[in-house]
Amino acid sequence: MKIETIAIHAGQEPDPSTGAIMTPVYQTSTYVQKAPGEHLGYEYSRSQNPTREALEGNLAALEGAAYGYAFASGCAAMTTLMHMYKQGDHILCGDDVYGGTYRLFTKVLSEMGLEFTFVDTTDLEKVREAIRPNTKAMWLETPTNPMMKVSDLRALSALAHERQVTVFCDNTFATPIFQRPLELGCDVVVHSTTKYLNGHSDVVGGFAATNDKALGEKIAFNQNSIGAVPGPWDSWLVLRGTKTLAVRMKAHNENGMAVAEFLEAHPRVKTVYYPGLKSHPQYVIAQAQMSGAGGMISFVIDGTLDDAKTFLMNLKIFALAESLGGVESLAEHPAIMTHASVPPEVREELGIDDGLVRLSCGIEAMDDLIDDLKRGFEAINS
Ligand SMILES: *Cc1c(COP(=O)(O)O)cnc(C)c1O
Repeated sequence: MKIETIAIHAGQEPDPSTGAIMTPVYQTSTYVQKAPGEHLGYEYSRSQNPTREALEGNLAALEGAAYGYAFASGCAAMTTLMHMYKQGDHILCGDDVYGGTYRLFTKVLSEMGLEFTFVDTTDLEKVREAIRPNTKAMWLETPTNPMMKVSDLRALSALAHERQVTVFCDNTFATPIFQRPLELGCDVVVHSTTKYLNGHSDVVGGFAATNDKALGEKIAFNQNSIGAVPGPWDSWLVLRGTKTLAVRMKAHNENGMAVAEFLEAHPRVKTVYYPGLKSHPQYVIAQAQMSGAGGMISFVIDGTLDDAKTFLMNLKIFALAESLGGVESLAEHPAIMTHASVPPEVREELGIDDGLVRLSCGIEAMDDLIDDLKRGFEAINS
């Protein structure tokens, strides 16, 4: 089955009691048993819920995974996964990961004795040198946020597996429509379903999937033990979102490409970071492992911090907001907004300039988006 069809059907059967084509919202915490211990596979909704199960089946199928687990947020998914490790274990992590990932690793899990090293995962030699005897996991995100760096998942997985290191890939930006981490060798794929998978900016959720039975069993055990699960209503909303994932991603990608090309040609733009452009430093890897570059773009305005603010405040369609991946376009200023918690010297090292703007291109008409950006640039020039 092709992914467009999987998105609509996987994990779901018409409701056996009524024939309802849509999975009901099983808004229940518990299930009546016929006799003590005699039940229909559902005992308590932290452990099993039919709406969540439908979502897990759907998302697992989209990632080509045998085992999939939904969580209350992307951060809840990461927290649950990291509980597979213990004091003294070392985890290698990309140096441009989502800010919340960085905070969870450095401020919460480090306090509990897990050791983290942040490394530029676009540089295989640096990664090889950073692997230690106690390295248990490699946490990858590609493309990254906000610099859109692309890491070679196949090569990194091969390197990690030589040393018995488990590879996690946060696939939130690309989605399974454009990038297939498990097929490229990663062990676990992770999502913030808040973003493209749900796609309508009305849910916070997370997901993890694997083809490794032992890993799947550990994740399932931790999912139930830690209890950071999504409710039935949120599960239902994400399940509705994924039905249009394939068509939405196609539209995000077309708008992303057009906006990136417009920006690259604009005299007030210094640099554009978008993996679909030939000027992207990892364009070749992006072409090899992604079938679309998506809707996320970062670029540097040729001007001051105030110019960047003026630009952002004069946009009418791109809303000034954090988050990404919804049908509506968003714009934000990483140095002031999403990445304010990153120390200035680290921001500089990563290239998070005062003129850097990040766009999440929605699925509005392409011309309207480009006109909106022109409006922003005109406001700087006037
Ligand atoms: C948003 C995001 C997360 C965190 O997910 P939440 O649902 O906000 O907890 C993790 N990784 C990436 C790439 C994200 O964009």
